[in-house]
Amino acid sequence: MTNRSTSLFAIGFALFALAVTQRAGAQDTALEQEALSLLSRYLRIDTTNPPGNEIRTAQFFKAIFDREGIESRIFESAPGRGNIYARLRGDGSKKAVVLLSHMDVVPVDRRHWSVDPFAAVIKDDYLWGRGALDVKGLGIVELMAMLALKREGVPLKADIVFLATADEEAGGALGAGYMVREHFDLLKDAGVVINEFGFIAVGDDGKANYYGASPAEKAPFWLKLTATGTPGHGSRPRPDSAVIRLIEALHRIAAYRTPLGVDPVAQKFYADIAELEPTPEKRQRLKNLRESLKDPAFAAEFTRDLRDNATVRNTISITMLEGSSKVNVIPAEATAQLDVRLLPGQDPALFLTDLRQVIADDGIRIDVVLSFAPSASPIESEFITVLEGIAGKADPGVKVTTPLTSGFTDCHFFREKGIPCYGFVPFRLSARELATVHGNDERLSLDNVRSGTRTMVEILRRLTTQ
Ligand SMILES: [Zn+2]
Repeated sequence: MTNRSTSLFAIGFALFALAVTQRAGAQDTALEQEALSLLSRYLRIDTTNPPGNEIRTAQFFKAIFDREGIESRIFESAPGRGNIYARLRGDGSKKAVVLLSHMDVVPVDRRHWSVDPFAAVIKDDYLWGRGALDVKGLGIVELMAMLALKREGVPLKADIVFLATADEEAGGALGAGYMVREHFDLLKDAGVVINEFGFIAVGDDGKANYYGASPAEKAPFWLKLTATGTPGHGSRPRPDSAVIRLIEALHRIAAYRTPLGVDPVAQKFYADIAELEPTPEKRQRLKNLRESLKDPAFAAEFTRDLRDNATVRNTISITMLEGSSKVNVIPAEATAQLDVRLLPGQDPALFLTDLRQVIADDGIRIDVVLSFAPSASPIESEFITVLEGIAGKADPGVKVTTPLTSGFTDCHFFREKGIPCYGFVPFRLSARELATVHGNDERLSLDNVRSGTRTMVEILRRLTTQ
């Protein structure tokens, strides 16, 4: 080739490349616009739990799957409580990928919202509405990823299962819990479940700090304490009344500091984010948190942050109290409820033994209100590797790490069956945006609708076609 033909070829190739890029860009835009329009419609369906009414959103999804030719079924776990399940078949050479999300949302206090929380208002480059972040936005980008691969007709190695459930905000018994309990035959071939919680953490400048994919969460171990005593008239106080015994026990519990413990998931998370710390000393401390916490001064400083504190110990919150229903009656019984959260790998029975010692009153009865095994998925997995590949492209040098969830999600239903479940929402979120979850003016940026759709398509493509 002559120089001239080389340069003509180069120009021709550049034009061709530009055309391809534009076409790919146009396709992405169509999918992203569709994501925005579907999410807007989804947000307008009020699924406040209680009562939930998720049957309406299940029907919303069913109509989309019918139109796209994807097999789907609605499971009504209780009147009005719908769960939607859809499956796109691969050749079965890899285990199925489950895209999980919940369709219910928590109640709103309309007085504190600056827009109608169920109108899907678009304002200031954000889509506003209850559920935009928790977690209807995830449901839609999961849907779009499934639709994109279906429309492309690429051969799949793994089945793609879409599962949007009811009732998560009230524990999930009528949603993911119901599906795993009653229809496990539809889910047992799952190799991985992608669900809510982790996200791409960004600073105020929009730059990514880390990709968080949560493999583990603390488990609730909710307890009810009952003290009994001799009842009587309020005008003649009794030092041994049920209320006083209970208060004394609670006083000891409030003063109790549970031991510190760093789970491998938490250890990895802090070591990974250590480099974001401005001072070399703090970086060093976080790199080996387990060792560092042996220093009481550092431990005191570290646990001052409520989130960090909850990540390195079992926690106890005294949340409910009940004594007499009349001011002048000393009741025969007084009760309190404790919201206890256990770290992964903890034995609830051992915790109870310790708590009894702290209470030091055999007259106080302890009943377990809710308990399930603290659950974890492997820190290393194909899903994490795929995410590392995607993060490396979009945000070179930014780590994929493993935050420990201090609350709980529907993941535990799957983990208890031995199916790995990861909390990862492909949105880039700042602390300010996250604060709207369960709060006022919940909203998702339009940029996140776009980039979240693209990221989820890429995750699913890599997991199911490679
Ligand atoms: Zn949620």
